[in-house]
Amino acid sequence: MKAIHNFNAGPSALPKEVLREAQAQLLNFNHTGMSIMELSHRSKVYEEVHEQAKSLLKELMGISDKYEVLFLQGGASLQFSMVPLNLLTEGSVASYVLTGAWSEKAYEEASKIGETSIIASTKDSNYTTIPTDTTFNLPINSSYLHITSNNTIYGTQFHSYPETGQVPLIADMSSDILSKKINIDSFSLIYAGAQKNLGPAGVTVVILRKDLLPNIPASIPTTLNYNTHVKNNSLYNTPPTFAIYLLSLVLKWVKEHGGVEVIEERNNKKASLLYRSIDESDGFYIPHATKESRSNMNITFTLPTEKLTKEFLAKAVENGFIGLNGHRSIGGCRASIYNAVSYESCEAFSHFMSRFKKSNF
Ligand code: PMP
Repeated sequence: MKAIHNFNAGPSALPKEVLREAQAQLLNFNHTGMSIMELSHRSKVYEEVHEQAKSLLKELMGISDKYEVLFLQGGASLQFSMVPLNLLTEGSVASYVLTGAWSEKAYEEASKIGETSIIASTKDSNYTTIPTDTTFNLPINSSYLHITSNNTIYGTQFHSYPETGQVPLIADMSSDILSKKINIDSFSLIYAGAQKNLGPAGVTVVILRKDLLPNIPASIPTTLNYNTHVKNNSLYNTPPTFAIYLLSLVLKWVKEHGGVEVIEERNNKKASLLYRSIDESDGFYIPHATKESRSNMNITFTLPTEKLTKEFLAKAVENGFIGLNGHRSIGGCRASIYNAVSYESCEAFSHFMSRFKKSNF
C-alpha cells in the first residue's frame, strides 16, 4: 500500500507502535483469552489498565496529589456544560476569552447556566490572533476564567497563559494537551477530548484541583457532578474501556520516546519546518494566524485563489497527504501535526508544498 501521511484534525493519527500493540493483544488480552473490550470494567485486569493510564498521565504531565484525574464521556463538548454546572455558582460570574469557535461554544453553554462575561475576544481579527495582553481585569466575584489553549480550527495557540491570581484558570486543551511542557499548578481545571494527542475518540480527560470539589452543588444531576466521578474513580458507570486502554498505550509510547520534553522539541521542529515552507513561499502560501499566535499543532493557510487551494488539496490526496482540508467553517488548508505525526511526514509534506509551488508559480 502507498505511504499515507495522516494530517487529520481529530480523530487523528495514532502511533503505529500503539496500533500494532493493540492489534497483537486484540483477541487475547493479558492471557485472559478475551479482548479487553469483553472484560468487565470491575475486573482486576481492567483495573490495572485504568490505573496505569491515570498514573502515566500524572507522571508525564507532572500532576501532583492536589489534583484528580477523571476519564469521562461526552467529549470536550460536554465539558462546556459540566464546567459551569459545577463551578458557576449563584452570585458569581464566569469569564471567557474568545479565541475561536470552540471557545464561543463553551461561552454559549455557560451563558445558559449562569452569569458570564467576555473578558477578551479576538473575533474582530477573524481569530487570527490570541490576545497579546493577558493581564485581565477579572470581576471580583469571578468563579473562573476559561480559555481554549489551542484553537484547532483557526490554528492559533496560547504560548503563555493568563495570570489569574486567586481566580481558577480553566483550559480546554483538547488540541494541545501533552504536546508541550506546562505548569499544571497554573490551572484549576483542564479538559481534553482524547482524539488528537491522547488516543481514540470516546474518552475525555479532566484534570481538576481537589479544592474545587467541596463547593460543587449537590443538586446537579449525578452523572454531571465531578464529585460523583471522583468518588467512584471514574467508574460510576461503565467507562469507555477500550478508549482508556488505547490511552494507556499512547501514554506509554510518549514515555518510551523520552516524555513530554522530547515530544515538545519534535513538535517545535515539525511546526517550524511547515511554517518555513509558508514564510519562504513568496506569498504563495498565505498563513491564517499572525506569527506570535501560531499554533504548533494546526497549521492553517490558503493559496492565492480558491481554484489553486482546491487543486492543492486534490493533488495532496493523490500524493498520500490526507486530512488537509480546512474546517468546513473557514475552508482553506490545515495540517494537523499532533504528537503521533512524524517529522518525516512533515518533511514529505514540506517537499510536496515546494513542488506544488514550483509547478504553479
Ligand atoms: N475543543 C476543541 C479545542 C476542539 O478542537 C474540539 C474538537 N475538535 C472540541 C472542543 C470538541 O470536542 P468533542 O468533539 O470531543 O466534543
